[in-house]
Amino acid sequence: MTDLLTTNFADHWVVDPVGGLAGVAGVSIVAGKIASVTWRDGEVAARACWAAGANPGAGDPTVALLPALIDLHAHFRQPGANASEEVESGTRAAAHGGYGTVALMPNTEPAADNVETLQAAIAGERHGVRLLPIAAATVGRAGTQVSDVAALVKAGAVAISDDGSPIADRAIFRAALLAAAAAGIPLIEHCEEPTLTAGGEAADGIVASRLGLRPWPAAGELRAVESAIVVLRDVVSSVPTARLHLTHLSTTAALAAVRSAQGEGIPLTCDVTPHHIALTDAWIAGDRRWAWEVASGDERLAPTADAFDSNLRVCPPLRAAGDAAGCREALRNGTALAIGTDHAPHSREKKEVEFGLAANGIAGIEMSLSVALAAHHAGELSLATIVAALTTGPARLLGVAAAGLTPGAAASLVQVDLAGIWRPSRATLLGRSINTPLIDRELPGVVQLTVLEGRPAYQR
Ligand SMILES: [Zn+2]
Repeated sequence: MTDLLTTNFADHWVVDPVGGLAGVAGVSIVAGKIASVTWRDGEVAARACWAAGANPGAGDPTVALLPALIDLHAHFRQPGANASEEVESGTRAAAHGGYGTVALMPNTEPAADNVETLQAAIAGERHGVRLLPIAAATVGRAGTQVSDVAALVKAGAVAISDDGSPIADRAIFRAALLAAAAAGIPLIEHCEEPTLTAGGEAADGIVASRLGLRPWPAAGELRAVESAIVVLRDVVSSVPTARLHLTHLSTTAALAAVRSAQGEGIPLTCDVTPHHIALTDAWIAGDRRWAWEVASGDERLAPTADAFDSNLRVCPPLRAAGDAAGCREALRNGTALAIGTDHAPHSREKKEVEFGLAANGIAGIEMSLSVALAAHHAGELSLATIVAALTTGPARLLGVAAAGLTPGAAASLVQVDLAGIWRPSRATLLGRSINTPLIDRELPGVVQLTVLEGRPAYQR
């Protein structure tokens, strides 16, 4: 274990989403604890800066200090597929990505539907990263019998989910919501109507038809979201503590349905992924423009890379620029409380196959901050929006405290050069699998140091 940190970060761009403060500050750490935070222009100005979006101006320092990030949705593949990722490699990758807390989905082999597997999924060297296990909502994630939620929560589960598969049977879905409510945790649902999406390879649209890929229609997500809302509305009328979280939403239509339901005051939250805010289905055709570089409705392709990179196969699929814009808008207006990585490492064997046969998923925990910062640098998302979506938002869902900058607290923070550029590659990534379409792309935001509970967990 590394030593407790003692250092002085002078003149950094500091963002504290817990205190609602941002600006130029000096942060001193003594023996792993935050000793003092000195805002150059005073706390009143720091509060106003946070409220205005926490964006640094010209001439401000480009090296930032943020609280350690929190991911509400990752896959570390342990037990069952440790060759793709395991706790030791996944937490090393997480610390490199600036994360201090990661919630792990239960799609392990076997599924984490029992206490023994739940505990095995977080065992091993963690490099100081806090792991929060999510238990399977149903036995074997098969959707036919609700898990023993009380026992799983007692063993540390922070939520239940059958991620990767929707709970298609509405009676079982309802029972799972009730079981989660009784245990005081949320149900996290992967929204997909299988009768509409079976065999789908890419978003329904011009790219899928040009490339001859089987369509996964937006209605497949919207239908599942609407149905989930109907059940939630019914459940909360008698059990108001029920909580439903819809993960990795990808369509403007589904996000609008969520926003409307939230307006009724029902306990519904959702998240979006880095890839759905920044990439489009045109990438499958070899286009490499960020989603915000393409006007909504513009269907022209500008390929600069080979088509059919199977690292782009993901569920839900990448969509048109308009849907990516909808995902960013959901972060701005608060419909989505978090950016969840859906870090989904896969071995080369599962990815180096025909596009439609490739396993779904992108390994992204080391790039998510950079992808979000790319949107920030393009003027799409304020720094306050990004930092909240990567810290206090997911903390709220998971029922944990986000790291702040309160003097006396153990330091859990990430030092990132906002203006720095790096390229993901086998040489720079620490995760075991590098199935990402961002390999060799210039990305902004270089993590210099991640400190967790007072100890350096990653140092460049
Ligand atoms: Zn999923």
